[in-house]
Amino acid sequence: MNPQQLAGRWYDGRSSQAHEVVLEHVPGERVLRIVDVAGTAVEWPLAEIEIDNRLGDLPRVLRRRGHGQVECADSPLLAQWFVRPRSRVQAWADWLERRRAAIAAAVVVAVACAVLALKVGLPWLALQLAERIPPAMEAQVSNQVVSLLERMQLQPSRLPPARQRQLRGRFAALVAGEPRYRQMRLRFARAPSLGANAFALPDGRIYLTDALAQLAGDDDELLAVLAHEAGHHVHRHGLRQAIESSAVVVAAGVAFGDVSGSSLAVAVPTVLLKSGYSRGHEREADAYALELLRRRGIDPSAFARIMRRLQAHSGAGQGIDGYLSTHPPTPERIRAAEAAARGP
Ligand SMILES: [Zn+2]
Repeated sequence: MNPQQLAGRWYDGRSSQAHEVVLEHVPGERVLRIVDVAGTAVEWPLAEIEIDNRLGDLPRVLRRRGHGQVECADSPLLAQWFVRPRSRVQAWADWLERRRAAIAAAVVVAVACAVLALKVGLPWLALQLAERIPPAMEAQVSNQVVSLLERMQLQPSRLPPARQRQLRGRFAALVAGEPRYRQMRLRFARAPSLGANAFALPDGRIYLTDALAQLAGDDDELLAVLAHEAGHHVHRHGLRQAIESSAVVVAAGVAFGDVSGSSLAVAVPTVLLKSGYSRGHEREADAYALELLRRRGIDPSAFARIMRRLQAHSGAGQGIDGYLSTHPPTPERIRAAEAAARGP
């Protein structure tokens, strides 16, 4: 058998008996010649032959409709004789190429979805969750924050009780009828470590430090700060921020059916204290405050004045309601307040 020939077995489909044959390809002709031991040759047009794919060491099978099939050991000759298997491989490679493009596209889409989920979906989910969290849990979380704050030397206020009553009255008049205003309660505290500061807790407690009360030039300035804190409460920024920041913990809580239990109670206060509000939340609270002040006939420039005082008082480092760590872009906020004061 010359090197251009292959040994095979032909099952003609009419009997179960195999015929030993030799396969050869006639160069220049698109036919496969099949020669049996007796020397009888038949010719199969290559175009009519189906050849199966290579699979390990299994014999290759060549089929021609109505003529049975020929089995032979795999050989590089087959790849030469049958262009189709090559083109099939080529087609497969092409398909893979397209698939690679599809995979790359899928990765891009997945990343875009993840970014979108973080930028839009997570805040949205946080809002949905925050709106469904019962007051009892808001109180629980707030208590945790207060106990953390107490550990940070939150002490009883030294403001005279009459002054406290007066400010409570003005605050109550400021927020009366606003969304969620019934929950809002003004609290006074002395907190050397927090300096001149104010902050809102998720359950509506709004704290004002003695240092801030003393720093303010007049009550309007204090009301401006309190209006900003009320804005955080109205928009549920505390829980939303905490949920966004501790989304993994919350997701785990949901997954294990424990969203109302310890996971939130442990995670949220810490997150509230550590991460503060996002810039978006600060802008929202500012906008709410300026609008509320205007509706109450208070000059919104009071907000700019108190921000300037805070800036001068504590340098660039501290502002209101960065419990510990937010450093809001104060000049930008002052400009916004002054623009609001000039009116629309
Ligand atoms: Zn704020």
